[in-house]
Amino acid sequence: MTLDELKEGQQAVILKIKGRGSFRHRIIEMGFVRGQMVQVVRSAPLKDPVAFRILDSEVSLRRAEACCIEVLPCTEDEAREFSTFLPVAKDWEKAGKDPQESPLEKKLDSHSVIDVCMVGNPNTGKTSLYNALSGAFEHVGNYSGVTVDAKTIVFTYKGHRIRLTDLPGTYSFSPYSPEEKLVMENLLEHRPDVIVNVVDASNIERNLYMTTQLIDMDFRVVVALNMFDELEASGAELQYGQLGKLLGMPVIPTVGRLGKGTDALLDKVIDVNEDRDCTVRHTHIPYSEEIEKALHALQEQIWKDPAYNDVYSSRYIAIKILEGDLEWVRRSGLLSDLPALEKAGEEERGRIEKIFGEDMDQVFADYRYAFVRGALKECYHRPGSRSGKVAAGAPAEAGEEGLPVVPSRRRATERIDAVLTHRIWGFPIFLAFMWVMFQATFTLGQYPMDWIEAGVDWLTGGLDRILPDNLFRALLVDGVVQGVGGVLVFLPNILILFLFISFMESTGYMARVAFIMDKLMHTIGLHGKSFIPLLIGFGCNVPAIMATRTIENRKDRLITMLIVPFMSCSARLPVYVLLVGMFFGSRSGTIIFLIYLFGILVSILTALLLRHTFLKSFDSPFVMEMPPYRWPTWLSIWKGLGNRTMQYLKKIGGVILLASILVWALGYFPASPDGLPADASPQSMALAEKQHLEQSYLGRIGRFIEPVIKPLGMDWQMGVCLLAGVSAKEVVVSTMSVIMDPQAAFTPVTALAFVFFVLLYFPCIGVFSAVAKESGSWKWAVFMALYTTAVAWLVSFAVYRIGSLFL
Ligand code: GDP
Ligand code: MG
Repeated sequence: MTLDELKEGQQAVILKIKGRGSFRHRIIEMGFVRGQMVQVVRSAPLKDPVAFRILDSEVSLRRAEACCIEVLPCTEDEAREFSTFLPVAKDWEKAGKDPQESPLEKKLDSHSVIDVCMVGNPNTGKTSLYNALSGAFEHVGNYSGVTVDAKTIVFTYKGHRIRLTDLPGTYSFSPYSPEEKLVMENLLEHRPDVIVNVVDASNIERNLYMTTQLIDMDFRVVVALNMFDELEASGAELQYGQLGKLLGMPVIPTVGRLGKGTDALLDKVIDVNEDRDCTVRHTHIPYSEEIEKALHALQEQIWKDPAYNDVYSSRYIAIKILEGDLEWVRRSGLLSDLPALEKAGEEERGRIEKIFGEDMDQVFADYRYAFVRGALKECYHRPGSRSGKVAAGAPAEAGEEGLPVVPSRRRATERIDAVLTHRIWGFPIFLAFMWVMFQATFTLGQYPMDWIEAGVDWLTGGLDRILPDNLFRALLVDGVVQGVGGVLVFLPNILILFLFISFMESTGYMARVAFIMDKLMHTIGLHGKSFIPLLIGFGCNVPAIMATRTIENRKDRLITMLIVPFMSCSARLPVYVLLVGMFFGSRSGTIIFLIYLFGILVSILTALLLRHTFLKSFDSPFVMEMPPYRWPTWLSIWKGLGNRTMQYLKKIGGVILLASILVWALGYFPASPDGLPADASPQSMALAEKQHLEQSYLGRIGRFIEPVIKPLGMDWQMGVCLLAGVSAKEVVVSTMSVIMDPQAAFTPVTALAFVFFVLLYFPCIGVFSAVAKESGSWKWAVFMALYTTAVAWLVSFAVYRIGSLFL
């Protein structure tokens, strides 16, 4: 009996709370725990919600919530008896009495049943396992469709009563066929305490597809890895403990036909039921960014729905709505305004199908398979060649129609993966790809870069000619056009870099790169997924920080975010080229390369440092998804590129524009330069400009910070350049050319110290705000700012001191 069935005034004792984790936790926190007495105080006029007395306080629950609480009604006498005794067993133990004597415990025990459902693909050995577990004799057959209705049996195992239900085999949980309907009903309406997902170990990839849907539903699941004998005979290897960690559900190998592993399976079921298993972890199947956005929008709408309660996962409901599979949502009456959600879902679906150029079902299936493939890539090793596997995997392909994935593409994917993630070849192929990417970025990018530069020069010259020499012209030409133009120049490089990156992303190669790099990244306590943002960081740190979104674990994500600034972004290159080129001639190529390497070294040390101090964490298991390879649609590339261009343009139009104007204004005021005669010699012009600058606010600030950078061998002008570079690193060079003559001001040693400082210190305002936004707090952004600058100072100091000894 459930709580909602009680009449007004009736008393009962709570037997168990059903439903998914987060719901149960909330209800338990309200005081609804096993062994607790409840009484119905009154039902609201429309019978919803219902008020209960529990722990001497009044709590109201909705009917939909109350029906998840199983109770035993008790008589007045019993209620009085229970309340005078110590309530449950653990209290008796504390009081030094035998808990078996507790009348309440006796009563609860005699009524407690763990509800367990078996689900899985057809012909995976569910019925065999059902018989072996319970001692029943149901018919077993080696073809699909033997079990057409649910069979239930109650038996006792180690003092626990278990109600086991065998369900017909299905490939997924979309209620199209009668079998699927029956399974859905059993899972979603009867809410078993634990689900046993029977998986055919010899055909694991396709079987785990169903498991991904159980993850979406957020059930408590134990995976029975059945036909384990066949897996072993085939010579394949599966680290099932690891697989369990990745799925967030324990995996137990079984041989249903021989009844092997049944005790371990039941022990695990009991552990999971009592929330004692540490493998159980709430995970999500990650879908694409577009889909996640759509899901989140739908979830927001679901949360607002007055009829919604968290008995069911809102994410799952959103997935169903997005898939357009509304049968169950409609029937369950979970939402009061379904039509509105349906409409929103339809719109999102249309949008996403257009981007992917595919059916929604297909898109979802691809991501689920990507998840499965990724998990298996880490813990499954097939024997020898693939052809051997097909021979061993006997009746596997028979029921393929039920499967929502084009098999030919999966095979093509496997063939491509055999090359691109090859143990030996994978790495050089990737390096070659990187080389082509950087070459294209810099050589191809040079042409449009020259055009933009010419355009900016033309504009500056034109404005100089047509505008009268006044404050406005100075602002427009020196502040806005020079500042913004100097940064706009890098747009082509960045677009080419991003074109490659979005090609890698949409073909599915990026995921393989992360996989190849995983081992290497582990040595610094990170995962392969962190490699992608770091790579992007060489182009520009801002999108790199955003790219950390794909890392689920928060600490890993933070560490990655905090080391991205040490990846020398393209904006710093001009500084190196200018200064190193000036003093080190033919050796400058090598020195610049070493500077890049040094940045990487600092990032590694920082990652290790953070991992051992602020961001300690145990290695959290996660799945690196392996999406099928596919040609990107133009729309998806275009969208990716368009987004990034917009981000960059926004940066230029916002932070950089403001900073340019600010630097210009600080250098211009308080006094405007005395009007020199138009025929004054260039030298006297330059001298006047310099004096003017020294008097300006910028000059005063420079003087103010001079003591801090003096130990690094730098003067106030260099300080001003560094300060200006806070807005964007590109600004360092442009400021330098305005306020000083580098040839005269620097020595080889100070140039080196300066270059190292530029490599390491505060990246730029854009990165600062990206870190603040993506980490969700200013704290980390401030930490990043202070840390990078402190490191820069120390390194620069060391370079200057040591360099002075030799150069
Ligand atoms: P269901 O359709 O999932 O209920 O599967 P059945 O229980 O009807 O079993 C299908 C076939 O697989 C039968 O021929 C069983 O004998 C066989 N089978 C079940 N479990 C195992 C196992 O662990 N190993 C092997 N090799 N065969 C099994
Ligand atoms: Mg069966």
